[in-house]
Amino acid sequence: MRKIIVIGSSNTDMVVRVPKLPLPGETVLGGDFLMNLGGKGANQAVTTARLACPTVFISKVGEDVFGRMALEQFDKEGIQTDFVFTDSQHPSGVALINVDRRGENCISVASGANASLLPADIDKAAAVFGSDDIILMQLEIPLQTIEYVVNKFHKTGATIMLNPAPATQINIETLRNITIITPNETEVETITGVCVQTEEGLREAASTLKETGIKNVVITRGAKGAYVLSDEFEGIVPAQKVKAVDTTAAGDCFNGALAVALLEQKTLKSAVEFANKAAALAVQKMGAQSSIPYRRELDI
Ligand code: AMP
Repeated sequence: MRKIIVIGSSNTDMVVRVPKLPLPGETVLGGDFLMNLGGKGANQAVTTARLACPTVFISKVGEDVFGRMALEQFDKEGIQTDFVFTDSQHPSGVALINVDRRGENCISVASGANASLLPADIDKAAAVFGSDDIILMQLEIPLQTIEYVVNKFHKTGATIMLNPAPATQINIETLRNITIITPNETEVETITGVCVQTEEGLREAASTLKETGIKNVVITRGAKGAYVLSDEFEGIVPAQKVKAVDTTAAGDCFNGALAVALLEQKTLKSAVEFANKAAALAVQKMGAQSSIPYRRELDI
């Protein structure tokens, strides 16, 4: 059976709402404490599973309560967790988040076990990779692991998607064999150095990526939708017009949904339309994984 293999991070987000963000040395009394599962890899795996695609998640958690909670949740979502490894040397990834009244936040992340997801782990999971699968990755695990996956699997026929988030200066030449790259506006500016505030800029940045050999470029643009550059289609695919209340994980939802639509053999343009619809549902709800829609909420 064709499937989606998400390779990426799993974190526990610990959130405190505060009247104002603390200054260095200051303690601020806040409101209720919220603990949510997150990490771009986990969010994208949850999306592909909720949108009814067979999903394998390759990730690493610590031998601790956060790791066990994450594994339990992945099982509930129907994600195959045989290759969510447990690391006895490093704790699970954690993000500490303060959010003030205006929604401004201040986040520190301890990557923990995510930073030790290495090429040797990919080898342990090698038998799960099929030639017509879609591999979906982000940048919250070591770059050497991502490069290893690209070099090992690009000749097999598998579709390799990279969501280059969070924004990181990477040498895109080493990743020219990926099939689809999906930066947002900040990420594409960080990678290419080209300002994308105009359609001309978008085209120039996308062409810079495509000229390396990457076949398909999809630049997400928040409420403006996405700009696509591929051999089959070039142009803007507009977002749904909705009232956004929280855009956390919108990009993760978009990427998971795009992978699902491509697995179902939609054209790139209609896959982006599907991803815009899924992400529009996510931005109308609060939270990260809690806002990710189920297949029945999408009428296609
Ligand atoms: P971003 O990571 O901000 O570029 O957003 C990813 C995707 O989420 C976009 O390409 C849209 O499909 C969707 N999205 C984000 N913000 C909004 C919004 N305010 N209204 C509708 N869709 C949105």
